[in-house]
Amino acid sequence: MVDKLKKIWLEGALVDWDDAKVHILTHTLHYGLGAFEGIRAYKRSDGKTYIFRLKEHIDRLLDSCKLIMMPPAFSHAEISKACVEILQANEMVDGYLRPMVYLGDGAMGVYAPDNPVRTTVLAWKWGAYLGHGAVENGVRAKISSWARHHIHVSLAKGKIMGQYTNSTLAKREAKMAGYDEAILMDVNGYVSEGSGENLFIVRKGKLITPPLAASILEGVTRDTVLTLAREEGIPVSEEMITRDQLYLADEAFFTGTAAEISPIREVDHRAMGAGGVGPITKRLQARFFDVVKGSDSSHPEWLTLVA
Ligand code: PMP
Repeated sequence: MVDKLKKIWLEGALVDWDDAKVHILTHTLHYGLGAFEGIRAYKRSDGKTYIFRLKEHIDRLLDSCKLIMMPPAFSHAEISKACVEILQANEMVDGYLRPMVYLGDGAMGVYAPDNPVRTTVLAWKWGAYLGHGAVENGVRAKISSWARHHIHVSLAKGKIMGQYTNSTLAKREAKMAGYDEAILMDVNGYVSEGSGENLFIVRKGKLITPPLAASILEGVTRDTVLTLAREEGIPVSEEMITRDQLYLADEAFFTGTAAEISPIREVDHRAMGAGGVGPITKRLQARFFDVVKGSDSSHPEWLTLVA
């Protein structure tokens, strides 16, 4: 349950939380055509709050809008400013940001080329996405019976609202079977990603994640982890992963803005390595959290000051 805050940024203005409403004819509500982002802000050890990789998230939002041919009425700079303002208006020192670009009411057919393209930015407090202790102790995952989007059916590189029915189905199936998260294969049987995270494995000292041409979202955290791993001198490879390679991994973890770096300790009842959090995962987690909320200032270009 999201705790109510004070303000929501709607179409260029800060409105009261309870007044941020949409009409029932809102096109996106019916057909799911719209784009969104998930961004985190952290209070770092200098006592100040920064949004992590805001530029890349708004880049991806605009890319998603391009994919669905729905250019927002607000610029990159304006949406970025709204992200800073919404944290300030709600006096948040850390939290999760949700910019959304959606199609308003007007025509009701799927075409609806003249409906207004609306933009909003909201924020809320969000702890460990995959549950209490997930980041520290790892999660149990299940290979989903649902396949990830085929690249010729959906837009895997877009964070498109309607596409998330696939994530929701997989997540619900996994949770109802007693697991923490789903791992989806692509239609050819290769490992794709979690319902809301990218996936990495470690085998024989090498860090492996599916390549961008796979049916995966181009995760900002994925890029962060690849960058930090290279800096740490950890061998990295972007290649397809099979189900049995996943089962035989020494370590595995999910990455995502919400999930951060969440170790996977078990997949379909097979322990990853010794079943705990492996050494390379621990090393990357330590570096990641130092960069996002500690004192590691090796990537100032990733930080946008809020207050
Ligand atoms: N895959 C999917 C399907 C997601 O929803 C997310 C979360 N945005 C990710 C991967 C991870 O992306 P990011 O690291 O940019 O949050």
